[in-house]
Amino acid sequence: MSLDLPFDNSYAALPERFYSKLAPTPVAEPSLIALNHALAESLGLDAKALETSDGVAALAGNVVPGGADPLAQVYAGHQFGGWSPRLGDGRAILLGEVIAPSGERFDIQLKGSGPTPYSRMGDGRSWLGPVMREYIVSEAMHALGVPTTRALAAVSTGETVVRDEPLPGAVFTRVASSHIRVGTFQYFASQNDVEGLEALVAYALSRHDADKTSALELLDGVVRRQARLVSMWMGLGFIHGVMNTDNMTISGETIDYGPCAFMDAYHPLKVFSSIDSHGRYAFARQPDVAMWNLAQLATALLPLIPTVEDAQGVIDQFPDLFRKEWLGVFRAKIGLRTEMENDSALLHDFMDRMAANGTDFTNIFRALGSGRARDQFADREVYDDWDRKWRDRLALEDGSPENRKADMDATNPAVIPRNHRIEQAIKAGVAGDYAPFHRLNGVLQSPFELSEANEDLARPPSEEEIVHRTFCGT
Ligand code: AMP
Ligand code: MG
Repeated sequence: MSLDLPFDNSYAALPERFYSKLAPTPVAEPSLIALNHALAESLGLDAKALETSDGVAALAGNVVPGGADPLAQVYAGHQFGGWSPRLGDGRAILLGEVIAPSGERFDIQLKGSGPTPYSRMGDGRSWLGPVMREYIVSEAMHALGVPTTRALAAVSTGETVVRDEPLPGAVFTRVASSHIRVGTFQYFASQNDVEGLEALVAYALSRHDADKTSALELLDGVVRRQARLVSMWMGLGFIHGVMNTDNMTISGETIDYGPCAFMDAYHPLKVFSSIDSHGRYAFARQPDVAMWNLAQLATALLPLIPTVEDAQGVIDQFPDLFRKEWLGVFRAKIGLRTEMENDSALLHDFMDRMAANGTDFTNIFRALGSGRARDQFADREVYDDWDRKWRDRLALEDGSPENRKADMDATNPAVIPRNHRIEQAIKAGVAGDYAPFHRLNGVLQSPFELSEANEDLARPPSEEEIVHRTFCGT
Protein backbone atom coordinates (compact mmCIF):
# COMPACT_ATOMS: atom_id res chain seq x y z
CA MET A 1 0.00 0.00 0.00
CA SER A 2 1.43 3.37 -0.86
CA LEU A 3 1.65 6.27 1.51
CA ASP A 4 -0.61 9.30 1.16
CA LEU A 5 0.83 12.70 1.94
CA PRO A 6 -1.25 15.88 2.22
CA PHE A 7 0.02 17.40 -1.02
CA ASP A 8 -1.36 20.65 -2.40
CA ASN A 9 0.50 21.23 -5.65
CA SER A 10 0.77 24.64 -7.26
CA TYR A 11 3.96 24.46 -9.36
CA ALA A 12 2.50 21.53 -11.30
CA ALA A 13 -0.38 23.81 -12.31
CA LEU A 14 1.96 26.28 -14.03
CA PRO A 15 2.28 26.04 -17.85
CA GLU A 16 3.84 22.83 -19.14
CA ARG A 17 7.00 24.51 -20.35
CA PHE A 18 7.98 25.14 -16.70
CA TYR A 19 8.88 21.50 -16.06
CA SER A 20 8.91 17.91 -17.23
CA LYS A 21 6.55 15.64 -15.39
CA LEU A 22 8.10 12.31 -14.52
CA ALA A 23 8.39 9.93 -11.60
CA PRO A 24 11.58 9.15 -9.72
CA THR A 25 13.48 6.05 -10.83
CA PRO A 26 13.22 3.22 -8.26
CA VAL A 27 16.29 1.97 -6.42
CA ALA A 28 17.33 -1.57 -5.46
CA GLU A 29 17.17 -1.65 -1.70
CA PRO A 30 16.09 1.47 0.15
CA SER A 31 17.05 1.80 3.77
CA LEU A 32 16.42 4.79 6.02
CA ILE A 33 19.51 6.59 7.31
CA ALA A 34 17.78 9.52 8.97
CA LEU A 35 14.36 11.04 9.30
CA ASN A 36 13.93 14.52 10.72
CA HIS A 37 11.05 14.06 13.15
CA ALA A 38 10.88 17.67 14.27
CA LEU A 39 10.70 18.89 10.68
CA ALA A 40 8.12 16.25 9.74
CA GLU A 41 5.93 17.38 12.60
CA SER A 42 6.30 21.07 11.75
CA LEU A 43 5.13 20.19 8.23
CA GLY A 44 2.14 18.28 9.57
CA LEU A 45 3.52 14.97 8.27
CA ASP A 46 3.27 11.70 10.15
CA ALA A 47 6.90 10.84 11.01
CA LYS A 48 5.96 7.31 12.07
CA ALA A 49 4.32 6.65 8.72
CA LEU A 50 7.41 7.94 6.91
CA GLU A 51 9.50 5.39 8.80
CA THR A 52 7.44 2.41 7.67
CA SER A 53 8.54 0.48 4.60
CA ASP A 54 5.89 2.35 2.56
CA GLY A 55 7.26 5.63 3.85
CA VAL A 56 10.85 4.71 3.07
CA ALA A 57 9.79 3.49 -0.39
CA ALA A 58 8.30 6.96 -1.00
CA LEU A 59 11.44 8.72 0.29
CA ALA A 60 13.58 6.56 -1.99
CA GLY A 61 11.43 7.31 -5.02
CA ASN A 62 10.32 3.69 -5.36
CA VAL A 63 6.66 4.61 -5.14
CA VAL A 64 5.02 7.92 -5.82
CA PRO A 65 3.02 8.84 -2.72
CA GLY A 66 -0.65 9.56 -3.16
CA GLY A 67 -1.27 13.21 -3.96
CA ALA A 68 2.19 13.82 -5.45
CA ASP A 69 2.56 15.22 -8.97
CA PRO A 70 6.26 14.61 -9.58
CA LEU A 71 8.19 16.87 -11.91
CA ALA A 72 11.66 18.19 -12.72
CA GLN A 73 11.88 21.99 -12.93
CA VAL A 74 13.60 23.72 -15.81
CA TYR A 75 16.03 26.59 -15.24
CA ALA A 76 19.13 28.14 -16.73
CA GLY A 77 22.03 29.91 -15.07
CA HIS A 78 25.44 31.46 -15.05
CA GLN A 79 27.93 28.89 -13.81
CA PHE A 80 31.20 30.54 -12.76
CA GLY A 81 30.15 33.48 -14.90
CA GLY A 82 29.54 31.38 -18.03
CA TRP A 83 26.04 31.17 -19.45
CA SER A 84 24.24 27.80 -19.52
CA PRO A 85 20.94 28.17 -21.38
CA ARG A 86 19.36 25.01 -19.98
CA LEU A 87 20.17 23.38 -16.67
CA GLY A 88 17.13 22.23 -14.69
CA ASP A 89 16.67 19.49 -12.13
CA GLY A 90 19.08 16.90 -13.47
CA ARG A 91 19.10 14.77 -10.34
CA ALA A 92 16.07 16.00 -8.43
CA ILE A 93 12.33 15.60 -8.61
CA LEU A 94 9.76 17.78 -6.92
CA LEU A 95 7.11 15.50 -5.46
CA GLY A 96 4.81 18.36 -4.64
CA GLU A 97 4.01 20.89 -1.95
CA VAL A 98 2.49 20.62 1.48
CA ILE A 99 0.90 23.32 3.58
CA ALA A 100 2.27 23.22 7.08
CA PRO A 101 0.04 23.78 10.13
CA SER A 102 1.63 27.26 10.24
CA GLY A 103 -0.06 27.96 6.90
CA GLU A 104 3.26 28.13 5.01
CA ARG A 105 3.71 26.23 1.76
CA PHE A 106 6.76 23.99 1.34
CA ASP A 107 8.23 22.02 -1.55
CA ILE A 108 9.16 18.41 -0.97
CA GLN A 109 11.86 17.32 -3.36
CA LEU A 110 13.86 14.15 -3.79
CA LYS A 111 17.50 14.65 -4.75
CA GLY A 112 19.49 11.83 -6.34
CA SER A 113 16.23 10.31 -7.59
CA GLY A 114 17.31 9.34 -11.11
CA PRO A 115 17.74 10.88 -14.54
CA THR A 116 15.46 13.57 -15.96
CA PRO A 117 15.36 15.39 -19.30
CA TYR A 118 17.80 17.88 -17.71
CA SER A 119 20.45 15.35 -16.66
CA ARG A 120 22.72 16.07 -19.63
CA MET A 121 25.70 13.74 -19.09
CA GLY A 122 24.85 13.02 -15.44
CA ASP A 123 23.28 9.88 -13.99
CA GLY A 124 20.70 11.70 -11.90
CA ARG A 125 22.08 10.06 -8.80
CA SER A 126 23.95 11.13 -5.72
CA TRP A 127 26.38 9.24 -3.61
CA LEU A 128 26.12 9.01 0.14
CA GLY A 129 28.73 11.70 0.91
CA PRO A 130 26.89 14.74 -0.51
CA VAL A 131 23.61 13.50 0.95
CA MET A 132 25.09 13.25 4.44
CA ARG A 133 26.85 16.59 3.98
CA GLU A 134 23.68 18.41 2.90
CA TYR A 135 21.75 16.83 5.75
CA ILE A 136 24.29 17.90 8.37
CA VAL A 137 24.98 21.38 7.05
CA SER A 138 21.44 22.43 6.15
CA GLU A 139 20.09 21.37 9.54
CA ALA A 140 23.02 23.07 11.29
CA MET A 141 22.31 26.26 9.34
CA HIS A 142 18.70 26.13 10.45
CA ALA A 143 19.73 25.71 14.08
CA LEU A 144 22.11 28.65 13.63
CA GLY A 145 19.17 30.78 12.53
CA VAL A 146 20.15 31.06 8.86
CA PRO A 147 17.42 30.83 6.21
CA THR A 148 17.95 27.52 4.48
CA THR A 149 16.40 24.58 2.72
CA ARG A 150 15.91 21.72 5.16
CA ALA A 151 16.64 18.02 5.41
CA LEU A 152 13.62 15.77 5.88
CA ALA A 153 15.28 12.44 5.21
CA ALA A 154 18.25 10.51 3.88
CA VAL A 155 17.87 7.03 2.44
CA SER A 156 20.56 4.69 1.16
CA THR A 157 19.70 3.01 -2.12
CA GLY A 158 21.60 -0.28 -1.97
CA GLU A 159 23.00 0.73 -5.36
CA THR A 160 26.44 1.81 -6.41
CA VAL A 161 27.10 5.20 -7.94
CA VAL A 162 30.26 5.51 -9.99
CA ARG A 163 32.25 8.69 -9.57
CA ASP A 164 36.06 8.40 -9.53
CA GLU A 165 35.36 5.12 -7.77
CA PRO A 166 32.26 3.07 -6.97
CA LEU A 167 30.41 4.61 -4.03
CA PRO A 168 27.18 3.84 -2.16
CA GLY A 169 24.15 5.71 -3.52
CA ALA A 170 21.63 7.72 -1.50
CA VAL A 171 18.53 9.87 -1.91
CA PHE A 172 18.00 13.08 0.01
CA THR A 173 14.58 14.61 0.77
CA ARG A 174 14.80 18.37 0.67
CA VAL A 175 12.21 20.79 2.00
CA ALA A 176 12.24 24.37 0.76
CA SER A 177 9.92 27.36 0.84
CA SER A 178 10.32 27.06 -2.95
CA HIS A 179 12.93 25.99 -5.48
CA ILE A 180 12.60 29.09 -7.64
CA ARG A 181 16.07 30.33 -8.53
CA VAL A 182 17.54 33.38 -10.23
CA GLY A 183 18.21 30.92 -13.04
CA THR A 184 14.51 30.09 -13.35
CA PHE A 185 13.83 33.70 -14.40
CA GLN A 186 16.89 33.68 -16.65
CA TYR A 187 15.52 30.64 -18.46
CA PHE A 188 12.27 32.32 -19.51
CA ALA A 189 13.98 35.63 -20.25
CA SER A 190 16.51 33.95 -22.52
CA GLN A 191 13.68 32.22 -24.39
CA ASN A 192 12.06 35.64 -24.92
CA ASP A 193 9.06 34.07 -23.21
CA VAL A 194 7.57 37.16 -21.61
CA GLU A 195 4.32 35.37 -20.84
CA GLY A 196 6.24 32.66 -19.03
CA LEU A 197 8.22 35.30 -17.19
CA GLU A 198 5.00 37.02 -16.13
CA ALA A 199 3.53 33.77 -14.87
CA LEU A 200 6.74 33.06 -12.94
CA VAL A 201 6.75 36.52 -11.35
CA ALA A 202 3.13 36.12 -10.27
CA TYR A 203 3.89 32.68 -8.91
CA ALA A 204 7.05 33.77 -7.06
CA LEU A 205 5.18 36.72 -5.55
CA SER A 206 2.42 34.40 -4.37
CA ARG A 207 5.01 32.27 -2.58
CA HIS A 208 7.35 34.89 -1.19
CA ASP A 209 5.85 38.37 -1.34
CA ALA A 210 2.12 37.77 -1.27
CA ASP A 211 1.40 41.42 -0.45
CA LYS A 212 3.33 42.68 -3.53
CA THR A 213 2.28 42.78 -7.17
CA SER A 214 5.10 43.86 -9.50
CA ALA A 215 8.34 42.42 -10.85
CA LEU A 216 10.19 45.41 -9.42
CA GLU A 217 8.82 44.68 -5.95
CA LEU A 218 9.83 41.05 -6.34
CA LEU A 219 13.36 42.14 -7.25
CA ASP A 220 13.42 44.43 -4.24
CA GLY A 221 12.37 41.59 -1.95
CA VAL A 222 15.05 39.28 -3.33
CA VAL A 223 17.73 41.97 -2.95
CA ARG A 224 16.79 42.44 0.71
CA ARG A 225 16.61 38.74 1.48
CA GLN A 226 19.96 38.05 -0.16
CA ALA A 227 21.64 40.95 1.66
CA ARG A 228 20.45 39.45 4.91
CA LEU A 229 21.36 35.89 3.95
CA VAL A 230 24.90 36.62 2.77
CA SER A 231 25.60 38.76 5.86
CA MET A 232 24.59 35.79 8.01
CA TRP A 233 26.92 33.51 6.05
CA MET A 234 29.73 36.00 6.61
CA GLY A 235 29.01 36.07 10.34
CA LEU A 236 29.54 32.32 10.53
CA GLY A 237 32.59 32.01 8.29
CA PHE A 238 30.43 30.09 5.80
CA ILE A 239 31.57 29.74 2.21
CA HIS A 240 28.82 28.57 -0.13
CA GLY A 241 31.34 27.59 -2.76
CA VAL A 242 29.14 27.52 -5.85
CA MET A 243 27.11 30.72 -5.99
CA ASN A 244 26.03 30.20 -9.57
CA THR A 245 22.78 31.97 -10.45
CA ASP A 246 21.00 28.60 -10.54
CA ASN A 247 22.04 28.11 -6.91
CA MET A 248 20.57 31.40 -5.65
CA THR A 249 16.98 31.32 -4.45
CA ILE A 250 14.24 33.91 -4.67
CA SER A 251 13.15 32.91 -1.15
CA GLY A 252 16.46 33.99 0.38
CA GLU A 253 17.17 30.48 1.63
CA THR A 254 20.60 28.95 1.29
CA ILE A 255 20.39 26.20 -1.32
CA ASP A 256 22.61 23.51 -2.85
CA TYR A 257 25.14 22.52 -0.26
CA GLY A 258 27.79 21.15 -2.55
CA PRO A 259 31.36 22.26 -1.97
CA CYS A 260 30.34 24.54 0.89
CA ALA A 261 32.43 24.83 4.03
CA PHE A 262 32.79 26.68 7.29
CA MET A 263 36.26 28.11 7.69
CA ASP A 264 38.48 27.00 10.49
CA ALA A 265 41.43 29.44 10.34
CA TYR A 266 40.22 32.79 9.08
CA HIS A 267 41.40 34.14 5.78
CA PRO A 268 39.22 36.49 3.74
CA LEU A 269 40.08 34.83 0.44
CA LYS A 270 39.58 31.28 1.63
CA VAL A 271 38.31 28.86 -1.04
CA PHE A 272 37.52 25.17 -0.59
CA SER A 273 35.78 24.12 -3.78
CA SER A 274 37.94 21.93 -5.96
CA ILE A 275 36.53 23.52 -9.11
CA ASP A 276 36.74 27.18 -8.02
CA SER A 277 40.26 27.55 -9.33
CA HIS A 278 40.10 31.35 -9.66
CA GLY A 279 38.52 31.93 -6.27
CA ARG A 280 35.40 33.51 -7.77
CA TYR A 281 33.40 32.32 -4.78
CA ALA A 282 36.02 33.00 -2.10
CA PHE A 283 34.68 33.97 1.34
CA ALA A 284 35.06 37.75 1.06
CA ARG A 285 33.84 37.84 -2.55
CA GLN A 286 30.40 36.47 -1.66
CA PRO A 287 28.68 39.86 -1.30
CA ASP A 288 30.01 41.02 -4.68
CA VAL A 289 28.93 37.78 -6.30
CA ALA A 290 25.47 38.13 -4.76
CA MET A 291 25.24 41.60 -6.27
CA TRP A 292 26.37 40.24 -9.65
CA ASN A 293 23.73 37.50 -9.46
CA LEU A 294 21.05 40.01 -8.52
CA ALA A 295 22.02 42.09 -11.54
CA GLN A 296 21.39 38.97 -13.66
CA LEU A 297 17.96 38.66 -12.06
CA ALA A 298 17.26 42.32 -12.79
CA THR A 299 18.33 41.81 -16.41
CA ALA A 300 16.01 38.82 -16.73
CA LEU A 301 13.11 40.84 -15.29
CA LEU A 302 13.67 43.91 -17.50
CA PRO A 303 10.80 43.13 -19.89
CA LEU A 304 8.47 43.50 -16.89
CA ILE A 305 10.08 46.56 -15.29
CA PRO A 306 9.13 50.07 -16.49
CA THR A 307 12.67 51.42 -17.04
CA VAL A 308 16.24 50.16 -16.77
CA GLU A 309 16.84 52.89 -14.20
CA ASP A 310 14.12 51.42 -11.98
CA ALA A 311 15.86 48.06 -11.99
CA GLN A 312 19.27 49.66 -11.50
CA GLY A 313 17.95 51.65 -8.55
CA VAL A 314 16.79 48.48 -6.80
CA ILE A 315 20.05 46.64 -7.43
CA ASP A 316 22.09 49.62 -6.31
CA GLN A 317 20.59 49.31 -2.83
CA PHE A 318 22.40 46.05 -2.29
CA PRO A 319 25.81 47.33 -1.12
CA ASP A 320 24.28 49.57 1.54
CA LEU A 321 21.73 46.98 2.61
CA PHE A 322 24.48 44.42 2.88
CA ARG A 323 26.76 46.74 4.86
CA LYS A 324 23.94 47.45 7.30
CA GLU A 325 23.14 43.78 7.74
CA TRP A 326 26.83 42.90 8.04
CA LEU A 327 27.36 45.54 10.72
CA GLY A 328 24.31 44.30 12.60
CA VAL A 329 25.64 40.76 12.56
CA PHE A 330 29.20 41.66 13.51
CA ARG A 331 28.35 44.29 16.12
CA ALA A 332 26.42 41.60 17.95
CA LYS A 333 29.37 39.24 17.59
CA ILE A 334 31.61 41.59 19.58
CA GLY A 335 28.92 42.45 22.12
CA LEU A 336 27.78 45.85 20.85
CA ARG A 337 24.15 46.81 21.06
CA THR A 338 24.43 50.44 20.05
CA GLU A 339 25.70 51.78 16.74
CA MET A 340 28.66 54.10 16.52
CA GLU A 341 30.59 55.63 13.69
CA ASN A 342 33.83 53.72 14.19
CA ASP A 343 32.37 50.25 14.72
CA SER A 344 33.10 49.19 11.18
CA ALA A 345 36.75 50.18 11.51
CA LEU A 346 37.00 48.42 14.87
CA LEU A 347 35.60 45.24 13.35
CA HIS A 348 37.77 45.34 10.25
CA ASP A 349 40.81 45.95 12.42
CA PHE A 350 39.93 42.84 14.44
CA MET A 351 39.44 40.73 11.37
CA ASP A 352 42.72 41.89 9.85
CA ARG A 353 44.42 40.73 13.04
CA MET A 354 42.51 37.44 12.92
CA ALA A 355 43.65 36.91 9.33
CA ALA A 356 47.27 37.73 10.14
CA ASN A 357 47.18 35.20 12.98
CA GLY A 358 45.03 32.60 11.22
CA THR A 359 42.78 32.41 14.28
CA ASP A 360 39.84 30.05 14.25
CA PHE A 361 36.81 31.98 12.95
CA THR A 362 34.26 30.32 15.22
CA ASN A 363 36.23 29.95 18.41
CA ILE A 364 37.68 33.46 18.47
CA PHE A 365 34.27 35.14 18.69
CA ARG A 366 33.05 32.65 21.25
CA ALA A 367 36.20 33.27 23.28
CA LEU A 368 35.69 37.04 23.13
CA GLY A 369 32.49 36.58 25.11
CA SER A 370 34.24 34.73 27.89
CA GLY A 371 37.32 36.95 27.94
CA ARG A 372 39.64 34.25 26.59
CA ALA A 373 40.25 35.63 23.12
CA ARG A 374 43.89 36.42 23.83
CA ASP A 375 44.70 32.70 24.02
CA GLN A 376 43.41 32.25 20.50
CA PHE A 377 46.09 34.48 19.01
CA ALA A 378 49.52 33.12 18.22
CA ASP A 379 50.84 36.65 18.70
CA ARG A 380 49.09 37.84 21.87
CA GLU A 381 50.24 41.42 21.59
CA VAL A 382 48.42 41.71 18.31
CA TYR A 383 45.28 40.92 20.27
CA ASP A 384 46.09 43.08 23.32
CA ASP A 385 46.38 46.16 21.19
CA TRP A 386 42.92 45.61 19.74
CA ASP A 387 41.50 44.58 23.11
CA ARG A 388 42.23 48.05 24.51
CA LYS A 389 40.23 49.67 21.70
CA TRP A 390 37.41 47.19 22.18
CA ARG A 391 37.25 47.84 25.96
CA ASP A 392 37.09 51.58 25.30
CA ARG A 393 34.19 50.99 22.96
CA LEU A 394 32.42 48.64 25.39
CA ALA A 395 32.67 51.33 28.05
CA LEU A 396 30.18 53.34 25.96
CA GLU A 397 27.59 50.55 26.17
CA ASP A 398 24.98 50.02 28.86
CA GLY A 399 24.34 46.61 30.32
CA SER A 400 26.24 44.31 32.59
CA PRO A 401 29.17 42.14 31.47
CA GLU A 402 27.05 39.09 32.35
CA ASN A 403 24.28 40.15 30.00
CA ARG A 404 26.81 40.94 27.34
CA LYS A 405 28.34 37.49 27.60
CA ALA A 406 24.90 35.89 27.42
CA ASP A 407 24.08 37.93 24.30
CA MET A 408 27.39 37.04 22.69
CA ASP A 409 26.97 33.35 23.48
CA ALA A 410 23.56 33.47 21.84
CA THR A 411 25.02 34.86 18.62
CA ASN A 412 28.48 33.26 18.45
CA PRO A 413 28.09 29.49 18.12
CA ALA A 414 30.18 27.11 20.19
CA VAL A 415 30.05 24.52 17.46
CA ILE A 416 29.63 24.53 13.69
CA PRO A 417 29.84 21.63 11.23
CA ARG A 418 33.57 21.55 10.73
CA ASN A 419 34.81 20.04 7.53
CA HIS A 420 36.93 17.37 9.10
CA ARG A 421 34.02 16.22 11.27
CA ILE A 422 31.73 16.02 8.25
CA GLU A 423 34.38 14.04 6.39
CA GLN A 424 34.82 11.69 9.35
CA ALA A 425 31.05 11.16 9.56
CA ILE A 426 30.88 10.42 5.83
CA LYS A 427 33.79 8.00 5.99
CA ALA A 428 32.13 6.12 8.83
CA GLY A 429 28.79 6.19 6.98
CA VAL A 430 30.35 4.68 3.88
CA ALA A 431 31.64 1.90 6.14
CA GLY A 432 28.09 1.39 7.46
CA ASP A 433 28.50 3.22 10.78
CA TYR A 434 26.13 6.16 11.08
CA ALA A 435 26.86 6.86 14.75
CA PRO A 436 29.24 9.81 14.09
CA PHE A 437 26.67 11.29 11.67
CA HIS A 438 23.87 11.07 14.23
CA ARG A 439 26.08 12.43 16.98
CA LEU A 440 27.17 15.39 14.87
CA ASN A 441 23.57 16.14 13.86
CA GLY A 442 22.44 15.91 17.45
CA VAL A 443 25.07 18.29 18.79
CA LEU A 444 24.50 20.76 15.94
CA GLN A 445 20.85 21.07 16.92
CA SER A 446 21.99 23.32 19.80
CA PRO A 447 25.03 25.09 18.37
CA PHE A 448 25.11 27.80 21.02
CA GLU A 449 25.66 25.42 23.89
CA LEU A 450 28.14 22.63 24.26
CA SER A 451 28.61 20.03 26.96
CA GLU A 452 32.09 18.93 27.97
CA ALA A 453 31.43 15.54 26.44
CA ASN A 454 31.15 17.16 23.00
CA GLU A 455 34.03 19.58 23.20
CA ASP A 456 35.97 17.57 20.64
CA LEU A 457 33.46 18.75 18.03
CA ALA A 458 34.33 22.40 18.73
CA ARG A 459 38.06 21.91 18.30
CA PRO A 460 39.73 23.03 15.10
CA PRO A 461 41.30 20.23 13.07
CA SER A 462 44.81 19.08 13.78
CA GLU A 463 47.31 19.51 10.94
CA GLU A 464 46.55 15.99 9.65
CA GLU A 465 42.78 16.47 9.95
CA ILE A 466 42.54 19.69 7.92
CA VAL A 467 40.30 19.36 4.87
CA HIS A 468 41.68 21.57 2.12
CA ARG A 469 39.28 20.71 -0.69
CA THR A 470 35.55 20.14 -0.96
CA PHE A 471 33.65 18.77 -3.94
CA CYS A 472 30.41 19.36 -5.80
CA GLY A 473 27.51 17.20 -4.85
CA THR A 474 27.55 15.31 -8.15
P1 AMP B 1 24.90 22.13 -9.01
O1 AMP B 1 25.69 23.33 -9.39
O2 AMP B 1 25.68 21.06 -8.33
O3 AMP B 1 23.69 22.50 -8.24
O4 AMP B 1 24.40 21.45 -10.39
C1 AMP B 1 24.36 22.11 -11.61
C2 AMP B 1 23.52 21.35 -12.61
O5 AMP B 1 24.03 20.03 -12.83
C3 AMP B 1 22.07 21.17 -12.21
O6 AMP B 1 21.29 21.30 -13.37
C4 AMP B 1 22.03 19.75 -11.69
O7 AMP B 1 20.76 19.18 -11.78
C5 AMP B 1 23.02 19.07 -12.62
N1 AMP B 1 23.59 17.86 -12.01
C6 AMP B 1 24.47 17.80 -11.00
N2 AMP B 1 24.77 16.53 -10.69
C7 AMP B 1 24.07 15.74 -11.53
C8 AMP B 1 23.95 14.32 -11.72
N3 AMP B 1 24.62 13.46 -10.96
N4 AMP B 1 23.12 13.89 -12.68
C9 AMP B 1 22.44 14.75 -13.46
N5 AMP B 1 22.51 16.09 -13.33
C10 AMP B 1 23.31 16.58 -12.38
MG1 MG C 1 22.23 23.54 -8.18
